[in-house]
Amino acid sequence: MEMDAGWLKDHVRDIPDFPKSGVTFKDITPLLGNEEAFRFSIDALVAAFEGGSVDRVLGIEARGFILAAPVAYRLGAGFVPVRKAGKLPWEVEKEEYVLEYGTDLLEIHGDAVQPGERVLIIDDVLATGGTAAATIRLVEKLGGEVAAIGFALELAFLDGRSRLGGHHVTSLLTYE
Ligand code: AMP
Repeated sequence: MEMDAGWLKDHVRDIPDFPKSGVTFKDITPLLGNEEAFRFSIDALVAAFEGGSVDRVLGIEARGFILAAPVAYRLGAGFVPVRKAGKLPWEVEKEEYVLEYGTDLLEIHGDAVQPGERVLIIDDVLATGGTAAATIRLVEKLGGEVAAIGFALELAFLDGRSRLGGHHVTSLLTYE
């Protein structure tokens, strides 16, 4: 289902040179703080995925949590956090992802997804796709099936979509 989400751009703030020079950070806190923009964003993500059966919705730390939790609630699915290294208290699976200088780790609890379960992955921004690609690998390590991946924003000029293995990807706002 297509929804015209273009007006949401009025609620995304561009922060030049954050967190470092040359990067324009897309600040979604105005979108989260506006009742209409927040509700519309959750409803649009739910509408994009409510046709397919989803057992779990994975949110990627930290802004992904904010979107994934209400989407999970609305879809009648469980919520699962994917976190940066060392934050989860129990047994974890890990996957490395590439940062501009070096690598970092994403972790998921080993029992957070059961074999055969259908998983929807949610994050706020698709940039190079490295974070989402590592999350796909975590789901597959646990024997889950990636049903789809959803973002509020997609920085299409970074071509992150091409790193997501042909999975079904939906983003509410695209920046060319
Ligand atoms: P990537 O792995 O390059 O796709 O980066 C995605 C992750 O980094 C997401 O969790 C985003 O929250 C964050 N991110 C990357 N680039 C930006 C940006 N320009 N503005 C806001 N968040 C970003």
